[in-house]
Amino acid sequence: MPQAGASQGARRTTTARTARARPAVAAKAALPSVDTIHQRVLTALVEHRLPPGTKLGEERLAKVFGVSRTQIRQVLERLAHDRIVTVVHNRGAFVSSPTVEEAREVFAARRVIEPDLIRQAVRMATKADIRRLREHVALESAARAANDKRAIIRLSGEFHQMIAEIAGNRYLAKTMRDLETLTCLVIILYDAPNVPACPYHEHADLVDVIEARDEKHAAERMIEHLRHVEASLNFERRSDGEIDFEAVFA
Ligand SMILES: [Zn+2]
Repeated sequence: MPQAGASQGARRTTTARTARARPAVAAKAALPSVDTIHQRVLTALVEHRLPPGTKLGEERLAKVFGVSRTQIRQVLERLAHDRIVTVVHNRGAFVSSPTVEEAREVFAARRVIEPDLIRQAVRMATKADIRRLREHVALESAARAANDKRAIIRLSGEFHQMIAEIAGNRYLAKTMRDLETLTCLVIILYDAPNVPACPYHEHADLVDVIEARDEKHAAERMIEHLRHVEASLNFERRSDGEIDFEAVFA
């Protein structure tokens, strides 16, 4: 799985919770920690391997990861807390299926947070950061050239996460990660055919304004960019009943 960039960012944002979540696992070094399982589920969501509506059965996941149900429950509780998973009474945990209203709220939240994050990134970005952003945009182009939709969506999200990391506010970076994951779920549900994730070239343009140290334009470009992403989605289409999510997961 080509995901070095994603897990790096995620590791940093989850560090604060590691100490609290880990004690039961520490003794069994070979088994994945709650953090690791959490991260792997997030990656699967972002890569569209666990579509909205998928049931996340405790027993099944415990078997897959070779851990106890208690640990899986901790992972699911964390995901439910971040609204990425929805717990249905007596039925268990499911990957959330954001409604149109929730999808619009996710984008509204991003339009509030991300202009400020990119302003901070303009102030904080080192030459090395800008080089990493350019390398990332090159990876996105390669994924587009190969028409690798999973990679395109994952890399698009990671780009926004990188800006949040460069801005250096760990709380906003954590919030961004949740909003990104929810955005991925929204994209699965409401993507118009052949319009994958972030519009072509706009990430390269954002790197240009960061490099030019132009805070005002960076914030404006980011808002425009998020509006383009939202506008590319088709909220008219209801996906209910179209896909057999259980079969996809099995
Ligand atoms: Zn984007």
